[in-house]
Amino acid sequence: MIWVLLKSVIKARKAGLMRLRPATQPTRLDCLAAACAKCCNTLGSPRVTPQEAQAIGPEHLCRIGDAIFTQSQGSTCSLLREGLCGIYPYRPSGCREYPWYNIHGQLYYDSGCPGIKYDLDERPQVGSIQPWENFFPHTGSIGRWILSKICLVR
Ligand code: SF4
Ligand code: SF4
Repeated sequence: MIWVLLKSVIKARKAGLMRLRPATQPTRLDCLAAACAKCCNTLGSPRVTPQEAQAIGPEHLCRIGDAIFTQSQGSTCSLLREGLCGIYPYRPSGCREYPWYNIHGQLYYDSGCPGIKYDLDERPQVGSIQPWENFFPHTGSIGRWILSKICLVR
């Protein structure tokens, strides 16, 4: 599992994403939506809570152990429709939160997201973002350490 995860993270890095920086200065998201769709095309298969799964429907989901994810084709989420989310009102919390991450209680953002702007301060409260460990439910501390070494820009 860790190798599949590493492969997708390295692929995301090659696409310019997963360049996580501490959000210590005014930052906001001005999403380019269908003109971009880089996150949905590259970060693939977000984790889904049981409540979200009920709204999305089992035909779009897969299970790994006790964790639920959207299905993907390669690194593209299978729910992407012509550059837009096909389940936008019900999209998983990780999709709603992107490009923000809560890493050990500190707010980070993906500086590779083309919609990131620095002209206004629209950073969310870190407590409103799920811990980043949630995205890797089957990855131990060594795996998470490797992922943070790859993704965090200091
Ligand atoms: S990568 Fe950023 S700008 Fe592009 S669709 Fe995702 S959130 Fe929007
Ligand atoms: S569920 Fe929607 S927003 Fe989330 S990755 Fe898939 S297409 Fe994108």
